[in-house]
Amino acid sequence: LNYRTTRYETSAARLDQCPADTGREVAFAGRSNAGKSSALNTLTGSSSLARTSKTPGRTQLINFFPIDEEHRLVDLPGYGYAKVPVAMKQDWQKHLGEYLEKRQSLVGVVLLMDIRHPMKEFDQIMLDWARDSQMPIHILLTKADKLKFGAAKSTLIKIRNDLKEWGDQLSIQLFSSLKRTGVEELSARLDSWLLA
Ligand code: GDP
Repeated sequence: LNYRTTRYETSAARLDQCPADTGREVAFAGRSNAGKSSALNTLTGSSSLARTSKTPGRTQLINFFPIDEEHRLVDLPGYGYAKVPVAMKQDWQKHLGEYLEKRQSLVGVVLLMDIRHPMKEFDQIMLDWARDSQMPIHILLTKADKLKFGAAKSTLIKIRNDLKEWGDQLSIQLFSSLKRTGVEELSARLDSWLLA
């Protein structure tokens, strides 16, 4: 697919506000500051996508980005703002949980983790959920440029090994928006999900 044709369509606070549940979509999830906006930006070559997701009031919404008539990228609300009140966190979990459980067109989740802070609580929650629902997961270890190549590579190998019982349901790669590394590997994974 040509990810450079991706545009913003709409934002949803609840499942019934999402676009029609047809075709195929891949969702991007991660803790706040994991590099999700930058990665979407790098993949699509469009700085306006990132800006859309960062618009105040939209950070807690599910943002939909059609690539073409049949395929979409979905930006899930970032998680982990320390100052968000408990009630808002519960609300967030409820709506996100509903989307993840009920959305028929969802074919895979890209889970972004800062390579310096991988496998935090949120990541574990997402992985548990994916296991329960048998949803394919692709992990991006982001900001890989922050480590020397050897250190990045050994982090990749360690996490891959820790998750090896997942088999084909899970894959993992290094990614850097700054250096534009891992973009082709990511597109290939998205193609395999969206065009299957
Ligand atoms: P989001 O909250 O997950 O959408 O994260 P952002 O994309 O806004 O990135 C958070 C911070 O990390 C920003 O200061 C980015 O400039 C920085 N960042 C994102 N990707 C990279 C990367 O590949 N390399 C480096 N060095 N910094 C990055």
